[in-house]
Amino acid sequence: MPEASVMETTTIRGLKNPVSRIALGTWAIGGWMWGGPDDRQAIATIQEAVDLGITLIDTAPVYGFGHSEEVVGQALQGRRDRVAIATKVGLDWTEDHKPFRNTSAARIRKEIEDSLRRLRTDYIDLYQVHWPDSAVSMEETARTLESLVQEGKVLALGVSNFTIAQMEEFRAFAPLSAVQPPYNLFERAMEHDILPYVRQHGLAILAYGPLCRGLLSGKMTAQTEFGPDDLRSADPKFQSPRFAQYLEAVRQLQDFARERHGKSLLALAIRWVLDQGPTIALWGARRPDQIAAVADAMGWSLSAADLRDIDTILNTCIKDPVGPEFMAPPGR
Ligand code: NAP
Repeated sequence: MPEASVMETTTIRGLKNPVSRIALGTWAIGGWMWGGPDDRQAIATIQEAVDLGITLIDTAPVYGFGHSEEVVGQALQGRRDRVAIATKVGLDWTEDHKPFRNTSAARIRKEIEDSLRRLRTDYIDLYQVHWPDSAVSMEETARTLESLVQEGKVLALGVSNFTIAQMEEFRAFAPLSAVQPPYNLFERAMEHDILPYVRQHGLAILAYGPLCRGLLSGKMTAQTEFGPDDLRSADPKFQSPRFAQYLEAVRQLQDFARERHGKSLLALAIRWVLDQGPTIALWGARRPDQIAAVADAMGWSLSAADLRDIDTILNTCIKDPVGPEFMAPPGR
């Protein structure tokens, strides 16, 4: 088993302790949009992650409509003090499980109590607005969240899927510690504005989808098919003819990782995210074997020449790039 001590750490303003730069993402553990849950494997994955030195776990109420948070709470019984829990707020859902944005004070007040109960804890380390909601004033959302910090229910605040203008507005009413944008080798929009902004303001970045929903694990082929309840069946990256371009990039990146560093593509994908700035890679996993290789991403780095060569591969292979925008939930 890899040594937990090799894990790189960073700080998030407001948290008690430094956190690992690889965090466990638990969307798939909730089951919804990932083909259903498997709680036994999920609990083993969370506990294995903690044993491997991962001290930050990211979840959300909407992941399985409470299920991911419940499983995280169950798995962390007796381990709560070893990890920081990051969860989210501001996605509501209909009775038939259709999510929609709702960051009203009333919704936040309800969600915090539901999350604390499901997670079996009396505080959340990092509480993040999941998606901005234009139907509610930023002042109402931010001030309500700030009051949760004052009450000791939350240690630090974050926002996800926010523009810079929305972050500026939020920061006028409440202190911000972290942002959570999509970020991986194939989805790099945040480099242009969010990355310089977080550097300027001393924020942490929780980069979501670092493996591009499994594409950067290197296990997919042109024959890979996804079930109807798997978000990747609606992901424009995984549709022909574009999928072939991404698979070719994966093949060349795989060769690059092996020949240049003796590493797997998966390790390269995580290392690349970690080498871009004050980033934390939110590695999504639902089986213990998926998270076993965390140490492979630690203790080395990519040179400027490596980064240039990687960009050449991406630019040569992917002629018709597309981002993760398909995941955005509707407003009201
Ligand atoms: P990801 O981390 O890019 O990919 C996760 C998927 O990659 C896994 O479910 C698994 O797919 C595959 N995988 C992981 N390790 C593997 C290994 N060792 N070998 C082969 N395949 C492996 O994608 P993500 O889960 O979408 O994102 C990570 C986390 O970010 C989420 O869990 C969530 O916490 C967060 N997130 C946040 C937002 C937001 O709006 N704030 C949006 C998306 C995600 P299979 O299980 O299918 O094999």
